Amino acid sequence: MAASINGVGGVGFGGLTCSTKTPLPSSRSSSFRVQMSVPVEDKKRNYTLQKSQEAFNAALNLMPGGVNSPVRAFKSVGGQPIFMDSVKGSHMWDIDGNEYIDYVGSWGPAIIGHADDEVLEALAETMKKGTSFGSPCLLESVLAEMVISAVPSIEMVRFVNSGTEACMGVLRLARTFTGREKIIKFEGCYHGHADPFLVKAGSGVATLGLPDSPGVPKATTSGTLTAPYNDIAAVESLFNSNKGEIAAIILEPAVGNSGFITPKPDFLEAIHHLTKENGALLIFDEVMTGFRLSYGGAQEYFGITPDLTTLGKVIGGGLPVGAYGGGRETMEMVAPAGPMYQAGTLSGNPLAMTAGIQTLKRLKAPGTYEYLDRITGELVQGILNAGKKTGHAICGGHIRGMFGFFFTEGPVQNFDDAKKSDAAKFVRFYQGMLREGVYFAPSQFEAGFTSLAHSPEDIQKTVAAAENVLSKI
Ligand code: PMP
Repeated sequence: MAASINGVGGVGFGGLTCSTKTPLPSSRSSSFRVQMSVPVEDKKRNYTLQKSQEAFNAALNLMPGGVNSPVRAFKSVGGQPIFMDSVKGSHMWDIDGNEYIDYVGSWGPAIIGHADDEVLEALAETMKKGTSFGSPCLLESVLAEMVISAVPSIEMVRFVNSGTEACMGVLRLARTFTGREKIIKFEGCYHGHADPFLVKAGSGVATLGLPDSPGVPKATTSGTLTAPYNDIAAVESLFNSNKGEIAAIILEPAVGNSGFITPKPDFLEAIHHLTKENGALLIFDEVMTGFRLSYGGAQEYFGITPDLTTLGKVIGGGLPVGAYGGGRETMEMVAPAGPMYQAGTLSGNPLAMTAGIQTLKRLKAPGTYEYLDRITGELVQGILNAGKKTGHAICGGHIRGMFGFFFTEGPVQNFDDAKKSDAAKFVRFYQGMLREGVYFAPSQFEAGFTSLAHSPEDIQKTVAAAENVLSKI
């Protein structure tokens, strides 16, 4: 896989202040020096996770698996999850006082950097007026207008509280609009944890190696057909054997939930064409790629306009948000304009809207995506070079602020290819990078994220750390 597609790497950056030199509060730097019995190689950095381990042991009795989302559990990388105390810019501090350069970004939302001052100030202002109204507020319309003017396929939008909700809503809408029930999804793509999507799903489902989830009735997944990503012939054959029955294809236009996988050059166009030919809708699940691959999302980046789009993560600026949208005619089928029911107590919440608005404002400034592209390209290229130097087969790639790499020769074009990545080596690499102060997603089946707050120095440190770790594993 190329380190960058469409040759977009290396564009000059202009117009943004992206430095994250937030001084460490003194409590953080002093608590860094917790003394512990640690493996010999860690003594140098006083790297200990004692408090995290204690916190996790306590949490195990309180919450299933000690966490509120399985992807945080470190199941596939060994050890225990690290409890974070605070985040700022591109960095995180755990409760033992260790500092990390963060490439998880709260799993995507933190694209302008964590705890951005302007976002926090705007939130404080909004909070003075209350935290939830349960009736319409102006902020909803402001964010709606921003989303509509940015995302090519969206003429109307409905805000919800998570990506899962957005995908549930959009599926119901596609079924309502077409009067058909079946859908096509791709192996290793994740569209939240609603029943119909828990078939060959990526993300935590893949990380934990779960074939499906118990508790999902057969009836809810019987309409879910699957095909390998990047395989147009497989999709064609599904349409042929289910004539007139398929409501929609849903996909991640660039995959982040099997690790990072890009669509082959003609894949999205062919899929688009097949949906048109068969009277089905095309749904881009842009919960991850929306406002990340470009201001208009993957659809703007690749120049393919789907019928419906889901969003999440970035548009909530770190607060819980999801959204789905599309053409006016389709969206007006949603209640109360139309018959398709979908609702939410906290949907359009003023705090979430505020964080989203501030985040999008910052992203709209000139040069943002060029900057993300440049630093992320340098990061991935640096890791690939480090692999070459130290004799490890690594392939990887990036688009703007989203990236991934696999411990295999590649190319990785679908979930089966991703599974060829050397899992044991990933674990050694992962643990080594943590000790170096670099926090990647704790699974090889997740994408990585950079932000406007990542400095060139962060990238250099990460690449140097990678070379160091790779030379030892
Ligand atoms: N769709 C995609 C593409 C996602 O990446 C995710 C979450 N990672 C979801 C849907 C579900 O979003 P949430 O976790 O907010 O429910």
